[in-house]
Amino acid sequence: MQSILYAAGFKIGLAKTNITPDVPVWMTGFAARTTPATGILHPLWAKAMVIEDASGHRMIIVSTDLLGLPHQVSEKVANTLYEKIGIQRKEIMFNSSHTHSGPMVWPGLSMIADYSVEDQRKVSLYQRTLTDKLVEVVLEAIKNVGPMQLSVGHGQANFAFNRRVITKTGVASGVNKEGVTDHDVPVIKVTAPDGTVKGILFGYACHNTTIQGDNTLLNGDYAGFAQINLEKRYPDAIAMFILGCAGDQNPAPRGTIALAQQHGDSLAKAVATVVNGKMRPIAPYIQSSWLTTQLEFQPRSVDDYEKDIETGSVYVQRRAKLVLEAYNRGWDTKHYTYPIQAINFGNSFYMIALAGETVVDYSLKIKEQFKGKDLFVAGYSNEVMCYIPSERILKEGGYEANDNLIYYGMMGPFKTGIERKIMNGTIQALKAVGVSPAAYKIKQSNNFR
Ligand SMILES: [Zn+2]
Repeated sequence: MQSILYAAGFKIGLAKTNITPDVPVWMTGFAARTTPATGILHPLWAKAMVIEDASGHRMIIVSTDLLGLPHQVSEKVANTLYEKIGIQRKEIMFNSSHTHSGPMVWPGLSMIADYSVEDQRKVSLYQRTLTDKLVEVVLEAIKNVGPMQLSVGHGQANFAFNRRVITKTGVASGVNKEGVTDHDVPVIKVTAPDGTVKGILFGYACHNTTIQGDNTLLNGDYAGFAQINLEKRYPDAIAMFILGCAGDQNPAPRGTIALAQQHGDSLAKAVATVVNGKMRPIAPYIQSSWLTTQLEFQPRSVDDYEKDIETGSVYVQRRAKLVLEAYNRGWDTKHYTYPIQAINFGNSFYMIALAGETVVDYSLKIKEQFKGKDLFVAGYSNEVMCYIPSERILKEGGYEANDNLIYYGMMGPFKTGIERKIMNGTIQALKAVGVSPAAYKIKQSNNFR
């Protein structure tokens, strides 16, 4: 009887591939690092889940234990998969865990480094190898598809804290116990017809920065430990971590490998409690949408960047050099084309994939806008180009509004209106997969491009 039930159900396949580079290799995330990685604490993985429904809709989710995929990598992978097997852009979503103990993925965050020719050769080679591996892991997951069931549930983990401490002299980095957080742990379980757990996709909104810049061992921070823990508990499963809107969220306490393991284990325990409990089955239907919106930067003059070249820190100088080059070549230094993706799982669970280091306000506001809908807002998706502040954070200032753009080699800060554009884009992306917000608080039409 069960085979009849599954005949019209989902077909799902999973695969994973080791993306740990050989050491020594330059790590990324902390500008202050002065030495390359000296070893491997645990491997870094790219993992893929392919979901097909009976009417031929298809969705691929790719997780990576990396700081963030640059546009160059994700779009190359998406284009190659389109050429090879006709995957549409809306049918594939990438996410990065934002581990600060992973390798540099060129050219993301390239301002923090000034490599020797040999080092540059190495990071460029890693970027190409990674691109190939991401294509391969998706193709392997497609090969593995078979009848499966999906179910969803939620847990909680409490180690994420708001890191923006508002002081009289500005925004400092610390632990703001009153600051906003999102402690939701969404869990999607993939089960074979015989009941074996084959896949676990889980999310959380917290920077993978438990381990700091003094560490020289490659690892996935708490998310790496959580995935290892879950794959031990469920030996037939591939566990995939998807990072939420963690831009202004840090783990606490932090600073050691032992604490990263502790947070990872507590997250895994929260996930396992959901997996072992009663989860809500998802009807075998999948749909996705993809759109872009033009984010605008506040104007800053050529004179300002020329001044930066003379007087700024080494990072400010590098950024100025990059922007002036872009300006001299006539490239667009006023806008950023920002992708927004939505996934509808069986008309009962929804995932939004926002690009960049989105702050937690986006998760909270989208959930408020779509009250009553079961949804997860992933940040760090498809590409990580810089922080994406909310209107509140843009006004307050600080690293997430301003300084990060130096290290990312971006113009900016963003113009006011960024939040409205992203909220409007999210509403449009969700509408395209058949879901409307509880109430239209945001004015439609002219604001959205
Ligand atoms: Zn970050």
